[in-house]
Amino acid sequence: MIKIFDSIDGISGIGPKRLQALHNLGIFNVNDMLTYYPSRYEDISSQLPSQTENGAKVAFQGTISSLPKVRFLGSKRSMTDFGLLVEHDNIRVTFFNQPWVVKNRQIGDTVAVFGTYDKNRQSLSATKVLTDIDDSDIQVIHPVSKDINQKTLTQLIENTYAKYRNDIVDIVPKHIVSQYGLMNRKEMIESMQFPKTKFQANQATKSAMFEEFFLFQMRIQLLKYQQRENYGRQIIIDQKLLDDFIAKLPFQLTEAQLNATREILNDMSRPIHMNRLVQGDVGSGKTVVAAIAILAAVNDGMQAALMAPTEILATQHAKTISDLYQRAGIGMRIEILTSSTKKSVRKQLLEDLKSGQINLLIGTHSLIQEDVEFKNLGLAVIDEQHRFGVNQRAILRKQGQNPDILALTATPIPRTLAITAYGEMDVSSIKQLPKGRKPIKTFRGSMNEIDQIYKWVHQEVKQNGAQVYVVTPLVEESEKIEAQDSVATYEYIKNEYPDLRVGLLHGRVSPEEKQKTLSEFKNGQIDVLVSTTVVEVGVDAPEATIMIVLDADRFGLSTLHQLRGRVGRGEKQSYAVLVADPKTDYGQQRLDALVATTDGFELSQKDLELRGPGDIIGVKQSGMPDFKVGDPIKNLDVMEEAQRAAIDTISEPNWDSKPDNQVLVEYLSETMERYKDFD
Ligand code: ADP
Ligand code: MG
Repeated sequence: MIKIFDSIDGISGIGPKRLQALHNLGIFNVNDMLTYYPSRYEDISSQLPSQTENGAKVAFQGTISSLPKVRFLGSKRSMTDFGLLVEHDNIRVTFFNQPWVVKNRQIGDTVAVFGTYDKNRQSLSATKVLTDIDDSDIQVIHPVSKDINQKTLTQLIENTYAKYRNDIVDIVPKHIVSQYGLMNRKEMIESMQFPKTKFQANQATKSAMFEEFFLFQMRIQLLKYQQRENYGRQIIIDQKLLDDFIAKLPFQLTEAQLNATREILNDMSRPIHMNRLVQGDVGSGKTVVAAIAILAAVNDGMQAALMAPTEILATQHAKTISDLYQRAGIGMRIEILTSSTKKSVRKQLLEDLKSGQINLLIGTHSLIQEDVEFKNLGLAVIDEQHRFGVNQRAILRKQGQNPDILALTATPIPRTLAITAYGEMDVSSIKQLPKGRKPIKTFRGSMNEIDQIYKWVHQEVKQNGAQVYVVTPLVEESEKIEAQDSVATYEYIKNEYPDLRVGLLHGRVSPEEKQKTLSEFKNGQIDVLVSTTVVEVGVDAPEATIMIVLDADRFGLSTLHQLRGRVGRGEKQSYAVLVADPKTDYGQQRLDALVATTDGFELSQKDLELRGPGDIIGVKQSGMPDFKVGDPIKNLDVMEEAQRAAIDTISEPNWDSKPDNQVLVEYLSETMERYKDFD
């Protein structure tokens, strides 16, 4: 048992109250304490008064020019002051309540002091005498709380280190430590917590970062490994059937679609558990790829499920997919289950599902309710998976006999996320749009140009038979106001252009009504569809060519990209008009980025840059831990090294019984418990 997992309550200075305060900071055992690293290091190497700003925290080194005088102010308080000559400036140094600090110092002695400089008075309100005056000195700053201050925390870390310093052993296996030029763990912790110079702290930071990334990657790789090997089922692929299906599609698959299909079928046909993510930009044709995988599973006697984030999308998928099978003369029983499925229908449906009479069940979240039981679920497809929290993915995975998982996403995953939040999945990319697509032309407009924009819309509809989406603003927390906004826009367009056929969709419209409106739009019976973002995800009306987004700056970059992806699906030229008068730089930059490119991969990287590390899609909901030292975006290179090291480690046969890995194994089994909710 490694001793650094001892509880911290045995450390001197920790009573019940401090124990609670430390727990609140996430510090439970000795290791937590030792790796509770400073968030900052303040440089307090010696400065010159003439070059120091008023109010700065600074260190001065000089010679004592007048003898220290101590004045007591009552029984506990005191003030000590003396003159200090720093080069040519004579300043006054004052200490409060530390009468001993400059005891026995003489005029002419050299000292270095740290404090806050008052430039007008040429005085330093000092807090400490720096010991090693030849060395630059740095101050460590830990993230603290109101229940425990910096000084106490530093002291407790010191106490912990004093007691356990000889129990600190390397967790990262020795050969990796040397391969990546890392510090050993004891030196690393000492340098992080008690550095003499900033340089020393910086040097240690790389090692600390590597360690935390490496341990994180070990957990991901273990998870992935367990998932793959433990529940593998082999599907016998009938290649001829699939080829025949592909040949009868109304279009020719792109090379990228074929590649993704191959990767998926390869996983399914091996005795491993598939956990694959297909990322492909909006309109790249992921649905048909899923349809092929489903056909392969069902043909081998398995059931399949397809989960979509909205009812509209689920219904659309059911229609699209059954049409595709029908064309190819394939018989398959497909049913839809959503929250608006009638009770009586639902009951029968669940019975048929359980007895295996349903081949493919398509639906929303309703698919993962407890009473939904499959006879033999072999494949679960999760469409637009970024819309689902990780838990839902995990539940679906546990449903039935741990089906193969095929997740589809139109939100391209920047490299950072691909190897962190989604690190346990294999990824296929469809980086190619079907032939003949023209890039969508994107424009910006101002709200006071709206009438001109509608006029142009009217003309496009009348002259070119265009079909148009008008998306109304996102209103936070209020579906009701959103609905009102869309109704107002709908009324306005209808009144101004009585010869346009206008439709309306918002969250408060009943499911039947939604379905009806949407199919009218698809059939060309509606010219202009006014809608809230309910059309954002996945809606496929190939003839639509114009997307107008009102108050576009209220939407995030990826939502706007998704919305834009609703058009440009046929061979006609399509347009997106982003109508907004953004008040912030961030708002401007987002819209400019969309005008500049239609490449989703580029945009997702841009999104990451604009939003910064704290706020990436997927990270929060993925359950990825907050890293203490490293930032997976800024330190992507280190994360990649750590991933490589973890994969190397785990792919050695019997890696977990090698002496070199013993501490690591112990560490992981100790901490896996805490991360068991990770997935
Ligand atoms: P997404 O990847 O955004 O889910 P869809 O699967 O909805 O995209 O496909 C978008 C549209 O492109 C659909 O109308 C679909 O029928 C069509 N499509 C898919 N693959 C091809 C292809 N290889 N060639 C032409 N059209 C295609
Ligand atoms: Mg889709």
